[in-house]
Amino acid sequence: MTHPDSKKPLNPMQIITIDGPAASGKSTLGQRLAEALGYLYFDTGVMYRALTWLALQQGVSMQDEETLTALAEKVPIDVTPPSKADGRAYDVWIGDQDVTWAIRQPQVDAQVSIVSIYPGVRRAMSKQQRRIGLRGCVVMVGRDIGTVVLPEAGIKIYLDASVEERARRRYEEQKQREEKITYEDILHNIMERDRVDSTRAIAPLRPAEDAVCINSDGKGIEEVFEMAIQIVRSRQEQVG
Ligand code: C5P
Repeated sequence: MTHPDSKKPLNPMQIITIDGPAASGKSTLGQRLAEALGYLYFDTGVMYRALTWLALQQGVSMQDEETLTALAEKVPIDVTPPSKADGRAYDVWIGDQDVTWAIRQPQVDAQVSIVSIYPGVRRAMSKQQRRIGLRGCVVMVGRDIGTVVLPEAGIKIYLDASVEERARRRYEEQKQREEKITYEDILHNIMERDRVDSTRAIAPLRPAEDAVCINSDGKGIEEVFEMAIQIVRSRQEQVG
């Protein structure tokens, strides 16, 4: 395996993937790991969300595969360090518009899995994600990173939790941001996203064969982080 822009050999142990269902704690874990290792954190869900938000803004039907694919190929999504201290871990931009919180709205949650089904959309998104991942020293989070986007990654984690626990965590988060949504709505949305994400024909949600699975039910952030960092360190030491 070589760096996409040079002939420098890449160390697969410096590519860490975290996949798993909605609200399983992937982002929190990914950020903590990236910080501890001095790696780049990259949340691929942001890209599908930004595209969905833009489609909603432009009144594009979620059934219009052709327009959505064309939009995916040209939408200028950028992720940069946080410009505001409002709880964000990074800024998400579409062109010069800050969409960091807009892409977390319930309307986006409700539609994003539909947009993510289309092969052309996935192709456009995966291409960019793979290019970033192959630079190495990255923690990349999503649904298909260990299976499809970066199958050569040396360390793959699959993070899971019961649907009730995931809905409860997401409800607490959204309540703090004063989103007007009930626990039942969130539970329903997560169940539906799980269903669509894991049954789609292309790149469905599932653990890679060589992934280590962690179930975070009843575990705090710190406990999950300790389990994951030990997995990373022992894999990196084995290979030297
Ligand atoms: O991770 P997050 O919940 O922000 O992702 C939003 C949605 O984007 C997922 O429910 C899924 O439909 C889609 N997604 C995907 N592949 C990824 C990341 C996200 O299909 N690698």
